[in-house]
Order: sequence, then C-alpha cells, then structure tokens
Amino acid sequence: MDALFRELDKWQTAGKKPRLFLRDDDAIDATPALDKLIGPCEDFDIPLLLATIPQPANTALGKRVIKSPLVRGAVHGYRHKNHSPMGEKTCELGTQRPLQTVLDELAEGREKLLNLFEGNLSAIIVPPWNRIHEPVIDELLGLGFGGLSTHAWLKHKMPLPMVSTHVDIMHWSAGTIGREHNWVLNQLTLNLEIARNKGGRAIGILTHHLVHDEKAWAMLDKLYALLDGKVDWVAADDLLSEAAEPI
Ligand SMILES: [Zn+2]
Repeated sequence: MDALFRELDKWQTAGKKPRLFLRDDDAIDATPALDKLIGPCEDFDIPLLLATIPQPANTALGKRVIKSPLVRGAVHGYRHKNHSPMGEKTCELGTQRPLQTVLDELAEGREKLLNLFEGNLSAIIVPPWNRIHEPVIDELLGLGFGGLSTHAWLKHKMPLPMVSTHVDIMHWSAGTIGREHNWVLNQLTLNLEIARNKGGRAIGILTHHLVHDEKAWAMLDKLYALLDGKVDWVAADDLLSEAAEPI
C-alpha cells in the first residue's frame, strides 16, 4: 500500500489527479449481485459502464439500470458464445463466421439494448473475452459504435477511440476467485505509473459482479475507500473525445 501512496504523491507533485473508470461485464438480469455492485457506486459517486449481453438481457435489467443515472449499459457481444475451434482462444466477434453474420448480430444487439435502456446506451462496445478481430473492428463505426473497450494498454493504432481496462480484480485461471488484495493494489500502482508516463491517461478497473466472491466484493470496498478523494472516477464515455493513447 505504501507504493500506491508513493505513486499517488508523484501525481500530486506533477499537478495531476489520476482518473479511473469502472467497467463491469456480463449483465443480463436485475440480480442482488447487481444491486451490490451499484450501491457503493452511488455512495461514492462512481459512474459504471455495465457491459450487457444483448441476446439474454431482460426487461428487469433495463428497468434497474434506468433507475440509476450513474449506470450506463454497453453492448457486450451478442450471446457471449465462443465460435473458436477447440484449442483456440475463446472469441465471439471473430473471423470464424461470415463477417456479415457477426455484424448483423451486433446491429441487432445494439438495437435491443437501445430500447431496453431507453436510449441511454454507451457508444462503447465491449467484446466478450476482450477479443475482437480486425475485420469486425473496421466495421464498428459504421454500426454506430464510437469506441472500443478491451483489456490492456494500446499496442498499435486503432481506427476508433479505445477506452480499455487495465486491472481485473478476478483471478480466472485460479478458478474464478477474487484476486489477493495486495496483487490488485500492486497492479493498480504499476498501471498508475504507466498512465502518468502517458500524460495522465485514465485507468480502467474491470469487475464481473455475477461471479464475485467475498474477497472480490471486499476488494471493491477497500478500493473505493482508499482512493476516495485521491482520484477522479469518470464515465467511460467521457473519455472517447480524448486524443489517441500514445503507444
Ligand atoms: Zn464477458
């Protein structure tokens, strides 16, 4: 934790305040877990980008999201279905199927969520497993999307604004459990340093409310309390107008 505070001091010396945004994935329904996620966001005034799977998303979710002005839904694939052959990395928005099939699904999903959230839909698309192939990326602007969110700092130029996440609080390969709190704070510190060196880019925190264990929930509580007043939590869509991230 000392390293985190030392890093925050460096921002202050540079006359800057870190900006963070929160992205949560896989919403389909209004559940107690979703309430548990949204509650503290409202307490700490934290905007939430709620990546929603269009095909199974129901009206109960729509009603719940509309009740909370800090929450904004985003298109998260279509069915969250893997189309990769066995042994390859999971991917829904790839070249395994005809391009037009993928684009038709995305257009239909976007339309459904626009209705479900009464127009309050993020311009950002969040691909399942943070994977999307280039031919699909090239068509996103034409489908009405204005930004893309994956997980990692930018490695090469992209044809549309990127608003990606950097710190995932879940440990997937260990059996979908919450990461050790020290690991999360170390990752946050490392990414704050990278963000500072990139001129103060925003950092994305990634959560998955439907699979959080107690450690993951406690991590979020700790994070919000620790960073309260020391960072600005911003809406992901507000980052779309920024200049492209330096590579
Ligand atoms: Zn997902």
